[in-house]
Amino acid sequence: MTHLNALQDIANEYEGRRTASTGFNASVDYVIKVLRNYTDYDIETIFFEVNDYLPITPGSLSVEMDGVAVELQAKFGSDLDNLQPHIDFETMGFSGSGNVSAPLTAVALTGTDAWGCDAADWASLADTVALVPRGGCAFYAKAVLAEAAGVAAILFGNNVSETEALRYTVAGSEPGQYVNIPMLGLSGATTQLLFDLAKATQDTVIATTKTGRPDRAVAIGSHLDSVPFGPGINDNGSGSSFNLELAIQFAAKRVEFANQVRFLFFGAEELGLLGSKAYVQHLQDTNIESLRNISCMLNFDMIASPNFIRGVYNGSSAAPEYGQRVLDGSTVIENLFTDRLEAKKLAHELTDFDGRSDYGPFIANGIPSGGLFTGAEVTKTIEQRNMYGGVPYAAYDPCYHQACDTVENINQKVLAEMADAGAYVAFQLAMAKDLDALLFPEGKPGLPTTPGPATTSTSTSIKTTTTTAGPATSTTAAPTTTTMTTAAPTTTTTTTTTATTTTTAAPATTTTTTAAPTTMTTITAAPTTSTTAAPTASPTAASSTHSPTDASSSTANSTAAAPSTST
Ligand SMILES: [Zn+2]
Repeated sequence: MTHLNALQDIANEYEGRRTASTGFNASVDYVIKVLRNYTDYDIETIFFEVNDYLPITPGSLSVEMDGVAVELQAKFGSDLDNLQPHIDFETMGFSGSGNVSAPLTAVALTGTDAWGCDAADWASLADTVALVPRGGCAFYAKAVLAEAAGVAAILFGNNVSETEALRYTVAGSEPGQYVNIPMLGLSGATTQLLFDLAKATQDTVIATTKTGRPDRAVAIGSHLDSVPFGPGINDNGSGSSFNLELAIQFAAKRVEFANQVRFLFFGAEELGLLGSKAYVQHLQDTNIESLRNISCMLNFDMIASPNFIRGVYNGSSAAPEYGQRVLDGSTVIENLFTDRLEAKKLAHELTDFDGRSDYGPFIANGIPSGGLFTGAEVTKTIEQRNMYGGVPYAAYDPCYHQACDTVENINQKVLAEMADAGAYVAFQLAMAKDLDALLFPEGKPGLPTTPGPATTSTSTSIKTTTTTAGPATSTTAAPTTTTMTTAAPTTTTTTTTTATTTTTAAPATTTTTTAAPTTMTTITAAPTTSTTAAPTASPTAASSTHSPTDASSSTANSTAAAPSTST
């Protein structure tokens, strides 16, 4: 419970642990700190960027200006609710009218030096509301390119230092030269806010044992993020805490592993497995061997549900598209789990193995997987009540994805039982002298010819920082052993290793294209009783102080929406 209480404390302090929040980052920090203090593993963090957000509280702004009613609806909540028209944003002159509901993106996310002056800057932004920094070329030039690329609406970002919203006329010098899509100009602060929302950085933490065959790696994964609506202690503080404690206990055994173990703490699972997809994609892009070297994956997502079942992923039901290797290996892993539960005389059943948690990107790449699950929103049947006790017709986890998913929502007994089974199977796999023989008793099938879809709905650049840290010299709470009754042999434990803290940054950047965010930005721009001159009038007449080419003059100090990807 130590780790669960720590995650609860973080959620309390930062109002949740959802993706791209301070609370999530604090969760990451906690995991890294514990790993550094109690293990000698190589610790690596993958940063990836997500372009979409889950809604928290829908907010919207609407304003009628210059004959155009503009409504900016931001379903990701946050400070957008407080934005003021005419101060934080304005309608650009000659804005098109329309009603737009589309994902928020940002031009600068697609390249390191993108100003929206090249067609390529807009190439992947069709059907989005795209934020673009000012500068580099005329607003009108950008608008023409954006419209041609199918962008749904444009948000022109001001320099961060500018407190006033951008307001320029966006049209060519000849009559009739204007675009038809809605356009807003933003203040510097609004620009930064929206850019951060479009960008949001996520982490996945990877801790790798120093011993064990690297070409027979056992990956053990859990997602560390929560939904926005609650602290996510069962979903998935339970799996993460188990994973973290397992990492500590394995280190404490000081055994030579037969096979390398990689402990993975994913971000952004709740946004569509973004963290696990980003990890697999990262390996595909930078080190395909490292991906091929993963022999199998164990996933722990929700293992302490209050009205629990004892679920084991039904590996033997793996869909044919994942290939024979996944089917054979996942069946073996399933049997390892069920054998252990049977040995402990604990009732259990098989649960869906359909890729809807972080093991999904792994089986899609031919990696056998398995895991445990104590149930979410589905209601318990009478038969299950007879097997496990509990409340029939009530959800396995009545607090699933809700504010009440706190430490109070944890069933400590089933958590201990699941942790025992999880640790047992993990240890069998880590210590197997011939892991291939264990996983594939009838011979190791080849990989499917088509590599699996690693990522489909994430992200832009991925950077890696490797940190190797020595154990001990600790200030954090001692690792508890409460939830662990590991089946592993107990070897002597000594804690005398000297601490070597080296931080070697080895950035390996790759760029993938953005795709399909799930949340929406809505811009409604409907023509109202017009006071604006029809767009056929010469734009220079429409605004005497701001000619359409004013934009380029601000290039020099335009930093607002420049890609501020921190390293
Ligand atoms: Zn989950």
